[in-house]
Amino acid sequence: MSKKIPFNKPYLTGDELISIKKAHANGQLAGDGTFTRIASETIRKRTQSGKVLLTHSCTAALEMCAILSEINIGDEVIMPSFTFVSTANAIVSRGGVPVFVDVREDTLNLNENLIEDAITSRTIAIIAVHYAGVACEMDKIIEIARKHQLLVIEDAAQGFLSKYKDNPLGSIGELGTLSFHETKNIHSGEGGALLINREKFIERAEIIREKGTNRTQFNRGQIDKYKWVDIGSSYLPGEITAAFLNAQLNKADYITEERLKIWNEYHQIFEDLEKKEKIRRPIVPLNCDHNGHIYYILLNKSFNQNQTINLMNEEGVNAVFHYQPLHISPAGERYGRYPSPLTVTEDICMRLVRMPIWIGFNQHDRVHEVLNKALNRQ
Ligand SMILES: *Cc1c(COP(=O)(O)O)cnc(C)c1O
Repeated sequence: MSKKIPFNKPYLTGDELISIKKAHANGQLAGDGTFTRIASETIRKRTQSGKVLLTHSCTAALEMCAILSEINIGDEVIMPSFTFVSTANAIVSRGGVPVFVDVREDTLNLNENLIEDAITSRTIAIIAVHYAGVACEMDKIIEIARKHQLLVIEDAAQGFLSKYKDNPLGSIGELGTLSFHETKNIHSGEGGALLINREKFIERAEIIREKGTNRTQFNRGQIDKYKWVDIGSSYLPGEITAAFLNAQLNKADYITEERLKIWNEYHQIFEDLEKKEKIRRPIVPLNCDHNGHIYYILLNKSFNQNQTINLMNEEGVNAVFHYQPLHISPAGERYGRYPSPLTVTEDICMRLVRMPIWIGFNQHDRVHEVLNKALNRQ
């Protein structure tokens, strides 16, 4: 029996410990030291965003967005149901209501043509989640937001170094969030960032991130005592995390190129199964440059997702499903609403299978063979 192929293997550049050793020697281990500054600056340059605040997770960055958007109880935020829980949880935690809208059949991203029908007098924002690092149709989303004076928040957790019409994801909306969780392309175990593209949010974001105090201004020598001035929490990572992240950011281009190579090879090798109408491969619009974050397939309706995944895992290939729709999850039913049926979401989540993808992976032939076998057995 050949070795099991895991779904993910967090990549290590080999430089993380060198970087951490330097942080250790510096003696500043709490947040906002040298490594945090370097990492934030690197991310800001790479994403061409206005300001970057490192956080301990994308979840934290989304919570900061919810506070910055000044949600009142009952205010609504439009988002896909096909996303990670944190997108909705951040809004619900502030008393807001997630309004779930269906996704497009091609990219599995928020269907921009359904947004306007979901807008009410209580709508304050749209969260665009860039699934698999492939961009939402941002021009249309921004146009709708301008017309109705809504905030656009990009959940670019999976989209670091991806682009929409040459614009880096996270730099297009007023606010953007990134994740550096170990399942993402570039990681620090846990980690994230808030990208701020409007000057007016910067000062308050710094305060929210520092437990509601103006300590960041104090650290810059702008005030002589720091005080409690607003609500907030502890959203910043320590220097060990930032040091680790720096080592990864230095290899960001290599990591992205390698993932794209693996992604492209999957795309070639699965072409025959698509031609035989057994599966559908991912669709990336021409105006999107993606980062090879996820390789998924959609099974033809005659196949069973669980059975396919189980058969593949029995053969040692750790294929996995993805999001269970939020609008029909216990908390989603309690806290959210959806103005129209989410037929695409409910359909694709039952057909989606993600394939192993990590730096060093090269067993495409075996994955193809195992998938083909699993399909032939149904
Ligand atoms: C991973 C992910 C998150 C959460 O990221 P954390 O850093 O683990 O908090 C949020 N949204 C999406 C779309 C994600 O993929």
